[in-house]
Amino acid sequence: MKRQTAASIVVTVLLSVSLGAATPIQQRRNSFTPAEDVRLGRQAAAEVRQQLPMLNDRATEILVERIGARLVAAVPARFRQPAFRYSFDVVNAREINAFALPGGPMFLNRGMLQAARTDDEVAGVMAHELSHVVLRHGTLQAAKAQKFQLGAIAGQVLGSIVGGRTGQVISQGSQVGLGTYFMKYSREYEREADLLGAQIMARAGYDPRQMANMFRTIQQRGGSQGPEWLSDHPDPGNRYAAINREAATLTVAGSADTGPAFESVHARLAQMPPAPATRRGN
Ligand SMILES: [Zn+2]
Repeated sequence: MKRQTAASIVVTVLLSVSLGAATPIQQRRNSFTPAEDVRLGRQAAAEVRQQLPMLNDRATEILVERIGARLVAAVPARFRQPAFRYSFDVVNAREINAFALPGGPMFLNRGMLQAARTDDEVAGVMAHELSHVVLRHGTLQAAKAQKFQLGAIAGQVLGSIVGGRTGQVISQGSQVGLGTYFMKYSREYEREADLLGAQIMARAGYDPRQMANMFRTIQQRGGSQGPEWLSDHPDPGNRYAAINREAATLTVAGSADTGPAFESVHARLAQMPPAPATRRGN
């Protein structure tokens, strides 16, 4: 314990010296307006709530809403979208997954919450998803899909944003099925969401290294609880090291301290009947 304390003092000193060296992130031109992000996301969220089993556990929702609100408040000013409306729902599914829709709705699988060891790890996944939202990666992807005449029907676009098995389930529930072309974010979008996510975490009082740890946990899980999240959010290369490198340029602002609430929700989820697996597509 003594050694750790000494080490953390050294780290704190190093961090304050290198403060302000966070990697700059660009805003891309987007053919959708922010209001269209909101409208599309709201339609898609309604569809998600119909197609996927929601956990509907108030204590769990309060926790994720609390973490989410801290993160949203910590979005750097130049990436804030006043029109966006954030919501945080928990899906009763065992896969380690999470996704966020344009304009703000975010969905977290119960399996992700149960695989996380700390609230900082949950915050890591949420900060990454939130970064996709504020950088408007979903509608940037949808704009690519439109070039291929896939149209802008919510279910199609939603499938392209959500991707993987979950995306298949949702797009099958809509009028038209979706191909697999646009299920993944590009590695460049992933790199940006990792970096901005780390920056948002630090500003919110969460340790960004825990995002790297959570992604490593996700990578190490296999089998039926396999990392669908990874297929939708491909490793931009040396992800663990890159996030930790960014974290070393950041100063964590205070402590978010949702730890006790996280422990209690973790225990609560463990006592419920196991979460079902997401029904496979095809
Ligand atoms: Zn991602």
